[in-house]
Amino acid sequence: MSDEKRKSIYEKGIEEAKYSMDTHIIYGKNITNKWDYTHHVTAPISSSTTFRLDSVERGAHGFEQFAHTEEFGNEAPIFIYDRLGEPNKDMLEENLAYVEKGETAVTFASGMGAISAVLGVLTKSGDEILTHNTLYGCTISLFNNWYPRYNIDVNYKNLTDLEVVKNNITVRTRVIYLETPANPNLDIIDLPALSNLVLELNKDRTNETRIYIVVDNTFATPYCQRPLTLGADFVVHSLTKGIGGFGTDMGGVVIGPKKFRDMILLYRKDFGAVINPKSAWAILTYGLPTLALRQKQQIASALKIARFLNSHPKVDYVNYPGLESFKYYESAKKQMLNFDGEFAPGSMIYFSLKGENPEKAKEYGKNFMDYVADFAYTMTLAVSLGHSRTLIEHPASMTHSVVPPEKLAERGLDAGGVRLSIGLEKAEDILQDLERAFDSV
Ligand SMILES: *Cc1c(COP(=O)(O)O)cnc(C)c1O
Repeated sequence: MSDEKRKSIYEKGIEEAKYSMDTHIIYGKNITNKWDYTHHVTAPISSSTTFRLDSVERGAHGFEQFAHTEEFGNEAPIFIYDRLGEPNKDMLEENLAYVEKGETAVTFASGMGAISAVLGVLTKSGDEILTHNTLYGCTISLFNNWYPRYNIDVNYKNLTDLEVVKNNITVRTRVIYLETPANPNLDIIDLPALSNLVLELNKDRTNETRIYIVVDNTFATPYCQRPLTLGADFVVHSLTKGIGGFGTDMGGVVIGPKKFRDMILLYRKDFGAVINPKSAWAILTYGLPTLALRQKQQIASALKIARFLNSHPKVDYVNYPGLESFKYYESAKKQMLNFDGEFAPGSMIYFSLKGENPEKAKEYGKNFMDYVADFAYTMTLAVSLGHSRTLIEHPASMTHSVVPPEKLAERGLDAGGVRLSIGLEKAEDILQDLERAFDSV
């Protein structure tokens, strides 16, 4: 039987069998034209910055192929130079697009590399970005420190309120940028409702003036939510977090419509934030195939821990999408669904300790985290998230320190707020450590 015939029967079989995405993420696309390694079970690491071109003619065709997806996207790639494309990151991209249900994916050196790339492609001088009050600290820093130089205005508003969104869209609005759940307070933005509003508005806009919705899906991971199926135009991830999963490699990705692939590739080539192939390989080999397994464990633990915190007398409030008492529980329940359609509220928790006043609450929170840093076995005081280990941090002084104290409330942050990223430990062991930390304050 010819390879082509075998391939088509095999692919048809996959389609007909309707395997769960839990299984698909282990095998991924499986058949790829990005690299011929049919006798490896695990994709081998390719580490070569430059590639043999055989002939001037073949080299010229490689350059023709690059960023010409429409014409040459189905051909086996002629690799030229790592910054343009190479096997490991190209295979990772195929699989990330697949799991997020997007047409195409382009990887970057970090989450920030991906965010600046998608916004670099979608905006130009004179445009406006409408965004949510609460965002990852470095995204705020990107908007506040650099975008004024390019004359791109960033308008921070409460995007959980659709009326507010409506009232703040102008003729210059080109992008609505958001995180849901937001880092770190877990605000949830109703994506189908937002998407319906933007669809209406775009009816009166041209291709040049239409509004794009860009969602940073890092907190949820594609296991818990696929924003492209809820009306978003683009998804970005920090692969450093839940998708990478083990805290060993940095990376980022933009996933979206195929017609943007060439522009995003060109941006990556020229601005240069290219993922290291060894990192792409690690995320492809360890991170993505274990995503569902890790998320299931982390969600089950997060739910137990959120409930424990919620009933603790020293805790003021707990934000966790899986708690019935959470302000955005109903929206979360509608859009945070795993591959089988079950509620998947994620592995991130934000909570605050009680205090006689905000200063006291902050002091107790700080003492609590210092106790954890010194004495807890199952929790580590560190930034980042989506790790195999449970990580605890203080956003106001760490990940979101770009926000001055008098602006914390405006950004949806609490001076004493604690962020927890649940790892793979047994929940009861984390609870023991939390209990002891509460006894210390
Ligand atoms: C960490 C993070 C980023 C940035 O990712 P890096 O890989 O550190 O550049 C962006 N968005 C969110 C929500 C994050 O948590």
